[in-house]
Amino acid sequence: ANYLSELNTSGITLDGQQLLAASAIEGPVLLLSGAGSGKTRVLTVRTAYMITELGIDPRSIMLVTFTAKAAKEMKERLLSYPKVEASAVHKLVTGTFHSIFYKILIHHEPEKWRRDLLLSRDWERQAILQKAGRELELDEKEFAYDQALQQIGLWKNTLLFPNDVRPETEWEETCKILYERYELHKEHTGTYDFDDMLVGCHRLLRNNPLLLKRYQDRFSYFLIDEFQDINKVQYELILSLSARNRNVCVVGDDDQSIYSFRGSDPSFIQNFSRHFPGAKVIKLTENYRSSHEIVATANRIIKRNQNRMSKAMHAQHNFGPPPTLFYPYDEEQEATMIVTDIQEKIADGARPGDFAVLYRTHSMSRAMFERLAVSNLPFKIESDAESFYNRRIVRGLLAFLRLSLDPNDAKAVSEIISSLFLKQSVLQEIKAESILQDCDLTEAFAFIKTAHAFQQKKLKALPKQIQSLRSLSPIVALEIIEKDLGYQDFVKKRGNEGNIEKGSDDVRDLKVAAKRFDSINAFLEHTDHMTAMNSEVKKLSKHFNDAIQLTTIHRAKGLEYKNVYVLGVVDGGMPHDYSLESLRKGDSSALEEERRLLYVAMTRAETELYLSVPHTRRGKNAHQSRLLKL
Ligand code: ATP
Ligand code: MG
Repeated sequence: ANYLSELNTSGITLDGQQLLAASAIEGPVLLLSGAGSGKTRVLTVRTAYMITELGIDPRSIMLVTFTAKAAKEMKERLLSYPKVEASAVHKLVTGTFHSIFYKILIHHEPEKWRRDLLLSRDWERQAILQKAGRELELDEKEFAYDQALQQIGLWKNTLLFPNDVRPETEWEETCKILYERYELHKEHTGTYDFDDMLVGCHRLLRNNPLLLKRYQDRFSYFLIDEFQDINKVQYELILSLSARNRNVCVVGDDDQSIYSFRGSDPSFIQNFSRHFPGAKVIKLTENYRSSHEIVATANRIIKRNQNRMSKAMHAQHNFGPPPTLFYPYDEEQEATMIVTDIQEKIADGARPGDFAVLYRTHSMSRAMFERLAVSNLPFKIESDAESFYNRRIVRGLLAFLRLSLDPNDAKAVSEIISSLFLKQSVLQEIKAESILQDCDLTEAFAFIKTAHAFQQKKLKALPKQIQSLRSLSPIVALEIIEKDLGYQDFVKKRGNEGNIEKGSDDVRDLKVAAKRFDSINAFLEHTDHMTAMNSEVKKLSKHFNDAIQLTTIHRAKGLEYKNVYVLGVVDGGMPHDYSLESLRKGDSSALEEERRLLYVAMTRAETELYLSVPHTRRGKNAHQSRLLKL
């Protein structure tokens, strides 16, 4: 076609298979191929082709991306193409599933879906579960409410309502009851959560055949990127909206399905041709992103998965060294080695924006963040998480250190009160006693009269114990707080927001962070500085165009960087402990997802890829990830 050759001359080339995929407009199309093969490029060109050459009304095109950022990028790319008018791009129905379907909902039921009725925060939702948990007399402190919340979300995204759930374990039994109460609570208060946006739209269209028909007529073309991560409710929505015209073009790579915890299910892409009979299946085989060495290694790794569709993939580029493994001692040295390497490369002319540091979970980024924060290099971090030192468990530990230096730190006293399982009213008592006895706040712990008898003895000894910490190194002091001052019990009972595992991880992470410091004072100064930096970086990084990117692998999906460093490629890091536990129980699907994660991480790199295999992780010996065994 004319337009496509015009694009070609302006540098936006497509190979034969890509051209085929970009111009097969009518009927169902599945574009299945590996990372970096130009799937997203095809989708963008296809859209441009439809609105320019074919004169298709952009309002009838639904273009779904996985993140809001991806939608924005795609629009920008479209605008840079010849003949594409801004007014047309604005008319496209584009965004994430959530944003697109939320607009439909709010159009028809504006009152019900008011913005202020959205339960947007995890803790808000958890609080509802906790209240229900109390009514059920669940062991408040042992129960993992965060995981229950995730389980409920999973059910909803699979269109399983409380009545549909058939629990197989005691845990699921409890979650089901919590789920019932959670839904009731929202009904009574008129609130809703993110998952309700999709479920609500599904219900709206199912209950209003006329409305459904209107939207079936309105949307004539569906284009969906990252289709391997679609879940049941999203799939059903697309299936019903496209039932009349069947112009559905999906692109994806089943090897990059990494959101099973949100109900993503690669079987939708694997069975696409069955649900859309007559679908054209187009496979791309050239990789335009990464060097030959990177493509070859990533392919060798992902081939170990049993549950996948086979794909051929050849690199177009021959430049670049093989992926490099490096072996730091621990997380701190890992960060230092990477920053040093980046600095050297920048001195040789590289740009900060050429680098990305990827990790399995956000909690792995602490040391990296701290090294970069003092390095003067521009960087951004993709996360809404609070500073590491503000996490509840960590805050509690630091409070003991603070009190050892300043026995009158009232904030620290109040923090400690909750970790000793005392009532907050004790704070008043402590303040009163410190006046009566003319002593500092810490000493006043010894005079508390309202505590349980079993606590009295401990409290008597506490002021001396805290005082004696001050001359110790932070790491030794932390060990004592944990073992002798009862903090371990607190972690065991409270964990981090209802997650015991994460709670003790925080303690271990803090000890790794403290190791470098000789005095408590220096360490506390460091933690305060880093907490301040955390919000600073978030504000600043919005203005950085050219910056090192720190991000979880999940959030790096679809993106590419010249040089990529992957942190913690050890057993327990990636694959994560959770999946190793599933494996022990005989379920290898979680391990396969970890392998896909590693594959996604590796295939973000264009020229250089570094995998870090630290000797220790969270203070314990670690072994090279089994995913690297070929
Ligand atoms: P992922 O699976 O990671 O999302 P993808 O298949 O969507 O990858 P793209 O991001 O579309 O791949 O393309 C990867 C890179 O290759 C991009 O930089 C893109 O501009 C480039 N590219 C794609 N097709 C071609 C082509 N025919 N010629 C030159 N470069 C291309
Ligand atoms: Mg893509």
